[in-house]
Amino acid sequence: MQTTNSGLTTQAAGWELLAARRAEVGAGLPVARALPTARRRSIGAWCFLDHAGPAVLPAGQGMNVGPHPHIGLQTFSWLIEGELMHRDSLGSAQLLRPGQVNLMTAGRGIVHSEESPHDRGGPLHLAQLWIALPDAERAREPAFEHHAVMPRASAGGFEVTALVGQVLGLRAPTRVYTPMMGADLACSGPARLDLPLDPSFEHGVLCLCGAARVDGASLEPGTLLYAPAGRDGTELACDGATRLLVVGGRPFDEALLVWWNFVARTSDEIAAAAADWQAGRHFGPVPGTSLARLAAPPIGELLLRAAPAARHPRAGS
Ligand code: MN
Repeated sequence: MQTTNSGLTTQAAGWELLAARRAEVGAGLPVARALPTARRRSIGAWCFLDHAGPAVLPAGQGMNVGPHPHIGLQTFSWLIEGELMHRDSLGSAQLLRPGQVNLMTAGRGIVHSEESPHDRGGPLHLAQLWIALPDAERAREPAFEHHAVMPRASAGGFEVTALVGQVLGLRAPTRVYTPMMGADLACSGPARLDLPLDPSFEHGVLCLCGAARVDGASLEPGTLLYAPAGRDGTELACDGATRLLVVGGRPFDEALLVWWNFVARTSDEIAAAAADWQAGRHFGPVPGTSLARLAAPPIGELLLRAAPAARHPRAGS
Protein backbone atom coordinates (compact mmCIF):
# COMPACT_ATOMS: atom_id res chain seq x y z
CA MET A 1 0.00 0.00 0.00
CA GLN A 2 1.43 3.35 -1.04
CA THR A 3 0.50 6.67 0.43
CA THR A 4 1.46 9.69 -1.63
CA ASN A 5 0.59 13.34 -1.30
CA SER A 6 -1.67 13.12 -4.31
CA GLY A 7 -3.28 9.95 -3.00
CA LEU A 8 -4.26 11.23 0.43
CA THR A 9 -7.87 11.75 -0.52
CA THR A 10 -8.28 8.11 -1.46
CA GLN A 11 -5.59 6.44 0.65
CA ALA A 12 -4.41 7.38 4.10
CA ALA A 13 -2.36 5.47 6.61
CA GLY A 14 -2.72 2.20 4.72
CA TRP A 15 -6.45 2.33 4.01
CA GLU A 16 -7.66 1.62 0.49
CA LEU A 17 -10.90 3.29 -0.66
CA LEU A 18 -13.16 0.92 -2.63
CA ALA A 19 -16.38 1.97 -4.36
CA ALA A 20 -19.50 -0.08 -3.64
CA ARG A 21 -21.62 -1.23 -6.57
CA ARG A 22 -25.02 0.43 -6.90
CA ALA A 23 -28.09 -1.76 -7.20
CA GLU A 24 -31.80 -1.40 -6.60
CA VAL A 25 -33.93 -4.08 -5.00
CA GLY A 26 -37.69 -4.05 -5.51
CA ALA A 27 -39.65 -0.86 -5.02
CA GLY A 28 -36.99 1.82 -5.02
CA LEU A 29 -34.79 0.36 -2.29
CA PRO A 30 -31.27 1.53 -3.15
CA VAL A 31 -28.52 -0.93 -2.33
CA ALA A 32 -24.77 -0.33 -2.15
CA ARG A 33 -22.96 -3.66 -2.49
CA ALA A 34 -19.58 -3.20 -0.82
CA LEU A 35 -18.64 -6.93 -0.97
CA PRO A 36 -17.89 -8.68 -3.18
CA THR A 37 -16.47 -6.27 -5.74
CA ALA A 38 -13.83 -6.80 -8.42
CA ARG A 39 -11.14 -5.34 -6.13
CA ARG A 40 -12.09 -7.20 -2.94
CA ARG A 41 -13.98 -10.47 -2.50
CA SER A 42 -14.02 -10.74 1.30
CA ILE A 43 -12.82 -9.27 4.59
CA GLY A 44 -12.07 -12.16 6.92
CA ALA A 45 -15.05 -14.48 6.57
CA TRP A 46 -17.33 -11.55 5.65
CA CYS A 47 -17.99 -12.34 1.97
CA PHE A 48 -21.05 -10.20 1.18
CA LEU A 49 -22.04 -6.75 2.40
CA ASP A 50 -25.19 -5.01 1.20
CA HIS A 51 -26.13 -1.63 2.59
CA ALA A 52 -29.84 -1.13 1.83
CA GLY A 53 -31.48 2.27 2.21
CA PRO A 54 -32.11 4.48 3.98
CA ALA A 55 -35.33 4.71 1.99
CA VAL A 56 -39.02 5.26 2.52
CA LEU A 57 -40.92 2.55 0.66
CA PRO A 58 -44.44 3.28 -0.66
CA ALA A 59 -47.33 1.57 1.14
CA GLY A 60 -48.02 -1.80 -0.43
CA GLN A 61 -44.50 -1.89 -1.87
CA GLY A 62 -42.42 -3.04 1.06
CA MET A 63 -39.38 -5.29 0.76
CA ASN A 64 -40.55 -8.74 -0.36
CA VAL A 65 -37.94 -11.39 -0.96
CA GLY A 66 -39.61 -14.75 -1.52
CA PRO A 67 -38.27 -18.13 -0.35
CA HIS A 68 -34.75 -18.79 -1.63
CA PRO A 69 -32.03 -21.24 -0.59
CA HIS A 70 -28.59 -20.75 0.97
CA ILE A 71 -25.67 -23.11 1.55
CA GLY A 72 -22.23 -22.73 3.13
CA LEU A 73 -22.77 -19.37 4.81
CA GLN A 74 -24.40 -17.43 7.63
CA THR A 75 -26.68 -14.47 6.82
CA PHE A 76 -26.35 -11.56 9.23
CA SER A 77 -29.08 -8.89 9.27
CA TRP A 78 -28.59 -5.65 11.22
CA LEU A 79 -31.63 -3.43 11.18
CA ILE A 80 -31.21 0.32 11.63
CA GLU A 81 -34.68 1.55 10.69
CA GLY A 82 -38.00 -0.10 9.85
CA GLU A 83 -39.20 -3.67 10.41
CA LEU A 84 -38.50 -6.93 8.60
CA MET A 85 -40.14 -10.34 9.00
CA HIS A 86 -37.89 -13.39 8.67
CA ARG A 87 -39.24 -16.88 8.05
CA ASP A 88 -37.24 -20.01 7.30
CA SER A 89 -37.51 -23.73 6.59
CA LEU A 90 -36.73 -24.54 10.24
CA GLY A 91 -40.08 -22.94 11.09
CA SER A 92 -38.57 -19.73 12.46
CA ALA A 93 -40.80 -16.65 12.23
CA GLN A 94 -39.06 -13.60 13.66
CA LEU A 95 -39.80 -9.90 13.38
CA LEU A 96 -36.57 -7.88 13.25
CA ARG A 97 -36.61 -4.40 14.77
CA PRO A 98 -34.00 -1.61 14.89
CA GLY A 99 -30.99 -2.48 17.03
CA GLN A 100 -31.62 -6.21 16.66
CA VAL A 101 -29.77 -8.97 14.83
CA ASN A 102 -30.97 -12.03 12.93
CA LEU A 103 -28.22 -14.60 12.31
CA MET A 104 -29.11 -17.56 10.13
CA THR A 105 -26.63 -20.39 9.69
CA ALA A 106 -27.32 -22.10 6.38
CA GLY A 107 -24.80 -24.90 6.81
CA ARG A 108 -25.75 -27.73 4.44
CA GLY A 109 -28.92 -25.93 3.36
CA ILE A 110 -31.77 -23.67 4.46
CA VAL A 111 -34.52 -21.63 2.80
CA HIS A 112 -35.81 -18.26 4.01
CA SER A 113 -38.03 -15.33 3.08
CA GLU A 114 -37.79 -11.70 4.15
CA GLU A 115 -40.67 -9.28 3.92
CA SER A 116 -42.02 -6.02 5.26
CA PRO A 117 -44.74 -6.99 7.80
CA HIS A 118 -48.23 -6.84 6.24
CA ASP A 119 -46.52 -5.47 3.11
CA ARG A 120 -46.39 -2.11 4.83
CA GLY A 121 -44.15 0.51 3.28
CA GLY A 122 -42.33 3.04 5.41
CA PRO A 123 -38.70 3.61 6.30
CA LEU A 124 -36.16 0.85 5.79
CA HIS A 125 -32.43 0.93 6.48
CA LEU A 126 -30.36 -2.19 7.04
CA ALA A 127 -27.06 -3.90 6.53
CA GLN A 128 -27.18 -7.46 5.26
CA LEU A 129 -24.01 -9.48 5.33
CA TRP A 130 -22.89 -13.03 4.64
CA ILE A 131 -20.27 -14.91 6.62
CA ALA A 132 -18.51 -17.78 4.83
CA LEU A 133 -18.40 -20.97 6.88
CA PRO A 134 -15.00 -22.72 7.05
CA ASP A 135 -14.70 -26.12 5.40
CA ALA A 136 -15.01 -28.00 8.71
CA GLU A 137 -18.35 -26.30 9.49
CA ARG A 138 -20.03 -25.68 6.17
CA ALA A 139 -21.98 -28.98 6.12
CA ARG A 140 -23.35 -28.43 9.64
CA GLU A 141 -27.07 -28.49 10.41
CA PRO A 142 -28.87 -25.19 9.72
CA ALA A 143 -29.74 -22.91 12.64
CA PHE A 144 -31.32 -19.54 13.36
CA GLU A 145 -30.72 -17.09 16.20
CA HIS A 146 -32.35 -13.75 17.01
CA HIS A 147 -30.74 -11.23 19.35
CA ALA A 148 -33.15 -8.60 20.63
CA VAL A 149 -30.51 -6.74 22.66
CA MET A 150 -26.89 -6.32 21.67
CA PRO A 151 -24.04 -5.20 23.99
CA ARG A 152 -23.53 -1.43 23.89
CA ALA A 153 -21.22 1.17 25.37
CA SER A 154 -20.54 4.88 24.91
CA ALA A 155 -17.04 5.93 23.87
CA GLY A 156 -15.69 9.18 22.47
CA GLY A 157 -19.13 10.47 21.54
CA PHE A 158 -20.10 7.23 19.76
CA GLU A 159 -22.61 4.63 20.84
CA VAL A 160 -20.76 1.40 20.06
CA THR A 161 -22.65 -1.86 19.51
CA ALA A 162 -20.82 -5.19 19.36
CA LEU A 163 -22.33 -7.22 16.50
CA VAL A 164 -19.84 -10.08 16.16
CA GLY A 165 -16.78 -10.97 18.23
CA GLN A 166 -15.32 -8.29 20.49
CA VAL A 167 -14.99 -4.53 20.42
CA LEU A 168 -13.90 -2.22 23.27
CA GLY A 169 -14.23 -5.15 25.69
CA LEU A 170 -17.83 -5.83 24.64
CA ARG A 171 -18.48 -9.40 23.55
CA ALA A 172 -21.26 -10.05 21.02
CA PRO A 173 -23.53 -13.06 21.62
CA THR A 174 -23.65 -14.05 17.94
CA ARG A 175 -22.21 -17.49 17.12
CA VAL A 176 -19.61 -17.53 14.37
CA TYR A 177 -17.02 -20.11 13.32
CA THR A 178 -13.88 -18.16 12.46
CA PRO A 179 -12.04 -15.32 14.28
CA MET A 180 -13.83 -12.13 13.26
CA MET A 181 -15.56 -8.98 14.49
CA GLY A 182 -18.28 -6.53 13.58
CA ALA A 183 -19.35 -3.29 15.28
CA ASP A 184 -21.78 -0.43 14.71
CA LEU A 185 -20.69 3.06 15.79
CA ALA A 186 -23.28 5.83 15.81
CA CYS A 187 -23.00 9.45 16.89
CA SER A 188 -25.48 12.33 16.86
CA GLY A 189 -22.85 15.09 16.92
CA PRO A 190 -19.07 15.54 16.92
CA ALA A 191 -17.24 12.38 18.01
CA ARG A 192 -13.67 11.05 18.06
CA LEU A 193 -12.47 7.62 19.10
CA ASP A 194 -9.24 5.64 18.97
CA LEU A 195 -10.67 2.20 18.28
CA PRO A 196 -8.33 -0.71 19.09
CA LEU A 197 -8.19 -3.36 16.36
CA ASP A 198 -6.87 -6.94 16.35
CA PRO A 199 -3.70 -6.81 14.22
CA SER A 200 -4.24 -10.41 13.06
CA PHE A 201 -7.44 -9.25 11.31
CA GLU A 202 -7.96 -7.39 8.05
CA HIS A 203 -10.62 -4.67 8.41
CA GLY A 204 -13.20 -2.67 6.53
CA VAL A 205 -15.10 0.48 7.49
CA LEU A 206 -18.37 1.40 5.80
CA CYS A 207 -20.24 4.66 6.33
CA LEU A 208 -23.99 3.99 6.61
CA CYS A 209 -24.96 7.65 6.93
CA GLY A 210 -23.26 10.97 7.59
CA ALA A 211 -19.51 11.32 7.00
CA ALA A 212 -16.35 10.36 8.83
CA ARG A 213 -12.58 10.59 8.80
CA VAL A 214 -10.76 7.29 9.31
CA ASP A 215 -7.11 7.99 10.15
CA GLY A 216 -7.64 11.17 8.18
CA ALA A 217 -9.21 9.47 5.14
CA SER A 218 -12.62 10.84 4.20
CA LEU A 219 -15.42 8.30 4.17
CA GLU A 220 -19.00 8.74 2.98
CA PRO A 221 -21.81 6.31 2.08
CA GLY A 222 -21.16 4.26 -1.04
CA THR A 223 -17.51 3.58 -0.32
CA LEU A 224 -15.62 1.05 1.80
CA LEU A 225 -12.24 1.60 3.42
CA TYR A 226 -10.13 -1.57 3.53
CA ALA A 227 -6.93 -2.24 5.49
CA PRO A 228 -4.93 -5.49 5.43
CA ALA A 229 -3.88 -7.25 8.63
CA GLY A 230 -1.25 -5.60 10.79
CA ARG A 231 -3.16 -2.60 12.13
CA ASP A 232 -3.70 -2.36 15.90
CA GLY A 233 -6.07 0.61 15.95
CA THR A 234 -7.76 3.38 14.02
CA GLU A 235 -8.88 6.92 14.73
CA LEU A 236 -12.52 7.57 13.86
CA ALA A 237 -13.75 11.17 13.78
CA CYS A 238 -17.06 12.74 12.78
CA ASP A 239 -18.41 16.29 12.79
CA GLY A 240 -22.11 15.42 12.89
CA ALA A 241 -24.65 12.62 12.95
CA THR A 242 -22.97 9.55 11.46
CA ARG A 243 -23.21 5.77 11.57
CA LEU A 244 -20.30 3.49 10.77
CA LEU A 245 -20.01 -0.27 10.34
CA VAL A 246 -16.62 -1.79 11.14
CA VAL A 247 -15.98 -5.40 10.07
CA GLY A 248 -12.86 -7.50 10.43
CA GLY A 249 -11.54 -10.99 10.51
CA ARG A 250 -8.57 -13.28 10.07
CA PRO A 251 -7.94 -13.44 6.31
CA PHE A 252 -10.02 -16.35 5.01
CA ASP A 253 -7.55 -18.77 3.46
CA GLU A 254 -9.99 -21.17 1.78
CA ALA A 255 -10.91 -20.75 -1.89
CA LEU A 256 -14.47 -19.38 -1.98
CA LEU A 257 -16.94 -19.59 -4.81
CA VAL A 258 -19.86 -17.19 -4.22
CA TRP A 259 -22.67 -17.67 -6.69
CA TRP A 260 -26.34 -16.59 -6.49
CA ASN A 261 -27.24 -17.46 -2.87
CA PHE A 262 -24.64 -20.16 -2.43
CA VAL A 263 -21.14 -20.14 -0.99
CA ALA A 264 -19.15 -23.21 -1.99
CA ARG A 265 -15.74 -24.28 -3.22
CA THR A 266 -16.41 -25.73 -6.68
CA SER A 267 -18.82 -25.03 -9.52
CA ASP A 268 -19.98 -28.68 -9.28
CA GLU A 269 -21.25 -28.04 -5.74
CA ILE A 270 -23.04 -24.91 -6.92
CA ALA A 271 -24.60 -26.69 -9.89
CA ALA A 272 -25.81 -29.51 -7.61
CA ALA A 273 -27.36 -27.06 -5.14
CA ALA A 274 -29.09 -25.15 -7.94
CA ALA A 275 -30.41 -28.39 -9.46
CA ASP A 276 -31.70 -29.53 -6.04
CA TRP A 277 -33.49 -26.21 -5.54
CA GLN A 278 -35.08 -26.25 -9.00
CA ALA A 279 -36.17 -29.87 -8.58
CA GLY A 280 -37.64 -29.27 -5.11
CA ARG A 281 -35.14 -31.64 -3.49
CA HIS A 282 -33.06 -31.20 -0.33
CA PHE A 283 -34.46 -27.76 0.57
CA GLY A 284 -37.67 -27.61 2.59
CA PRO A 285 -40.63 -25.21 2.41
CA VAL A 286 -40.94 -21.95 4.39
CA PRO A 287 -44.11 -22.12 6.52
CA GLY A 288 -46.21 -18.98 6.84
CA THR A 289 -45.18 -16.95 3.81
CA SER A 290 -47.42 -16.28 0.84
CA LEU A 291 -44.54 -15.07 -1.34
CA ALA A 292 -43.55 -17.08 -4.39
CA ARG A 293 -40.23 -18.90 -4.23
CA LEU A 294 -37.40 -17.40 -6.26
CA ALA A 295 -36.13 -19.30 -9.26
CA ALA A 296 -32.41 -19.88 -9.68
CA PRO A 297 -31.04 -18.19 -12.80
CA PRO A 298 -30.32 -20.51 -15.77
CA ILE A 299 -27.47 -22.83 -14.96
CA GLY A 300 -25.45 -21.90 -18.05
CA GLU A 301 -25.65 -18.25 -17.17
CA LEU A 302 -24.69 -19.02 -13.59
CA LEU A 303 -21.60 -20.92 -14.63
CA LEU A 304 -20.52 -18.06 -16.90
CA ARG A 305 -21.03 -15.55 -14.14
CA ALA A 306 -19.09 -17.70 -11.72
CA ALA A 307 -15.96 -17.57 -13.83
CA PRO A 308 -14.76 -14.05 -12.91
CA ALA A 309 -15.72 -14.57 -9.27
CA ALA A 310 -13.65 -17.74 -9.20
CA ARG A 311 -10.50 -16.00 -10.40
CA HIS A 312 -9.55 -14.33 -7.12
CA PRO A 313 -11.08 -16.79 -4.66
CA ARG A 314 -9.22 -19.68 -6.23
CA ALA A 315 -6.03 -17.84 -5.48
CA GLY A 316 -7.19 -17.45 -1.88
CA SER A 317 -9.23 -14.50 -0.71
MN1 MN B 1 -31.21 -14.70 1.72
